[in-house]
Amino acid sequence: METLSVRCNHCGAPLEVGADTRFVTCQFCSSTLEVKRTDNSVFTREVAKIAENTGRMAESLEVIQLQNEIQQLDREWGIAEAGRMVHGRTGPRTPGNPVFGLAFTLFFAVVCFLMASGFASSGAGIFTIVPVGMGVFALITGVMGMIRGEERKSAETDYQQRRAELVQRLDALRKE
Ligand SMILES: [Zn+2]
Repeated sequence: METLSVRCNHCGAPLEVGADTRFVTCQFCSSTLEVKRTDNSVFTREVAKIAENTGRMAESLEVIQLQNEIQQLDREWGIAEAGRMVHGRTGPRTPGNPVFGLAFTLFFAVVCFLMASGFASSGAGIFTIVPVGMGVFALITGVMGMIRGEERKSAETDYQQRRAELVQRLDALRKE
């Protein structure tokens, strides 16, 4: 059988390989070697090393992809927030507790309706409609504000959850 003389790419030991052999294990250092042939030379390459490099490259690609996803998510959230700001939809008008905001709205509406019944009993006629309208408007605004506040809150929770998940995956990759 025709053999070729090559050197182990890892330890430099001389090796004899068959003419058609593609893979060989070095008997001195146990490296797995691929036998490469060009027109005028034969040499070996360590197979384990190639696989390692490929794995590392795939990993860093995944890191870049995750970083991009996080950036994209932040950008989308920023745009959504800016949109809410422009339309004055940052949630309930009273900062902090939305329940307090709604309670105030209800109180205001009740005052309006009491005023309306006062107007009605003193014979204000058509003007009774003014406090009624104010009360109804306050109720609608308050409820809409609360719904928008809830919508924003759930959107924010969703955004933060997705972000945390991506960050976690990124951390896991970097620790390896
Ligand atoms: Zn070797």
